[in-house]
Amino acid sequence: MKLNRRKFLKYGSIGSLGLLPSISCNYFGEQERSIERDFFEIDKILSQPVMDLSVLKEPIIIASLELKRYKNNFICEVISTSGAHGISVGNSDKLKSVWPVFYTRLQPYLIGKDVRDLEAIMEGIYLYKSNYKLQNLALWVPWATIEFALLDMIGKIQNQSIGQLLGEVHHPKISVYQANNFRGKSAEESIELIKENVNASAAKAVKFKVGGRMSKNKDFPNGRSEKLIPLVRETFGDDMTLYADSNGSYDVEEAIRIGKLLEEYNYDFYEEPVPFDWYEGTREVTRKLSVPVAGGEQEASMRNFRWLIGNRALDIVQPDLFYFGGMIRSIKVARMSEALNIPCVPHISGNGLGYLYMMHFVSCIPNAGPYHEFKGFNTQIPYQCDTSKLTSNEGVVEVPKGPGLGITIDPDFIKKHLTLQ
Ligand SMILES: [Mg+2]
Repeated sequence: MKLNRRKFLKYGSIGSLGLLPSISCNYFGEQERSIERDFFEIDKILSQPVMDLSVLKEPIIIASLELKRYKNNFICEVISTSGAHGISVGNSDKLKSVWPVFYTRLQPYLIGKDVRDLEAIMEGIYLYKSNYKLQNLALWVPWATIEFALLDMIGKIQNQSIGQLLGEVHHPKISVYQANNFRGKSAEESIELIKENVNASAAKAVKFKVGGRMSKNKDFPNGRSEKLIPLVRETFGDDMTLYADSNGSYDVEEAIRIGKLLEEYNYDFYEEPVPFDWYEGTREVTRKLSVPVAGGEQEASMRNFRWLIGNRALDIVQPDLFYFGGMIRSIKVARMSEALNIPCVPHISGNGLGYLYMMHFVSCIPNAGPYHEFKGFNTQIPYQCDTSKLTSNEGVVEVPKGPGLGITIDPDFIKKHLTLQ
């Protein structure tokens, strides 16, 4: 297939982060590269482990694994037989609904397992009690919560950050884009609120909502998106990086019409133009527009990501670290997309500490996009971090360097949480 020249130029701006082709040199322009070659590269990545845990000489046997709750906050704690400890904060919005899966279908399998076999354990957990039948948020959100605690524990044992565990730290600092959602308000009201948000974080990139969210072409309110798209560009000027997210609002024809407007105002990506599980529709929109199309936040299946990447149905992939089942699975997505020179910009869900997990993940992927999602820091969870202020300095945040997650959650706050079983 041929890729659009303008998309190449767009990628070129991201290419400063190391995205220039490593396995072919000129297919972006007029030359063709075979889809078979792309899938060969992708399948090679899928067959390889993400982490090398062979350096861990002593077994790390899971002695205890608990999920605890205080109000709407969920904490997962793991302790090994030798006393190593790991902790994570879950996606509270989703765990409120699916937390029993933790105790009925995951924890019993994991007790007594050696964490050095983590990737084999993941294969096992998928089959245990036919858990694959729950593949989606019901399985992946509780699993991701456990995986983050396990990675925190391994990081503390190895004295490495989660980013170091998963690869090499390529990005010790991360530039953020300010995400906001004022859908439902008029274009005039929305722009004032977007300005407030952007001023608070000093971000150099902003993402806002267009369309009505899975709304079969309806805008919310009527005419808002067509007014707001030029207004945001006029308000922030040519130097601001602009992203628009339709949350699957359109059919293919309308998605292309709105996409042309985004092109006219030089937008940098267009997220979920059609419903997320309409793969052929997504590919068609991507092929017909020069503005890069982003997506993947709802994706739960590795094979579906394989299809989306191998068929170049997306120009930017956005796995959600919770919804897709943790860092290791998401790293596979990042590596598949890296092989095809497609940038990865993970999606953040939930309040909790989602932004911290995002930062560690982004720190170690060479094909990270230039800006990453930011919805504000969580002030509900008291913690200490000695290696980063975890504030936005002119839109840039430093990734914690300490072991594991790199923060210490206030022990008194943890004590307030009660075990759910
Ligand atoms: Mg989105």
